[in-house]
Amino acid sequence: MTVARILAEKGSSVVTVSPDKTLEDVIQILADKRIGALVVAHADGAVAGIISERDIMRALARHGGATFDAPVSDHMTADVTTCGRSTTLEEVMGLMTQGRFRHVPVCEDGRLVGLISIGDVVARRIATVEAEHQALRDYITMA
Ligand code: AMP
Repeated sequence: MTVARILAEKGSSVVTVSPDKTLEDVIQILADKRIGALVVAHADGAVAGIISERDIMRALARHGGATFDAPVSDHMTADVTTCGRSTTLEEVMGLMTQGRFRHVPVCEDGRLVGLISIGDVVARRIATVEAEHQALRDYITMA
């Protein structure tokens, strides 16, 4: 299964935040949208980084309440691992495992076209494994 197919099912909208917003803004958006990470994007749409609940926890542990007013750019990860629409589900799983993160933005021609989360990966993986098991069961009962 490819990223393109996952995006066809889940949609291609991505919640973004600009680098000059504060961590308090990020917390509000994450809570409102019930998600775990935001892609940080410049006004022209170019990806500047990613900020997740992990970054907020780390900033709070280091700087306490003062961190709420800090700009996103101070606490985001600027070196973002992305994938393309033709990347496979297995490749995305590999990126997440290697990088120890749960979100991979999808880019095409430098443009953000979607985001795959670990929830998307797990849901599709379970569906694939169940389909394989069913095929094996059908094969056995036919024999
Ligand atoms: P997550 O597991 O996605 O909540 O993120 C864990 C850490 O990895 C945080 O510091 C994120 O900023 C960072 N991170 C998340 N996604 C990516 C990504 N695609 N590329 C690089 N870093 C990431």
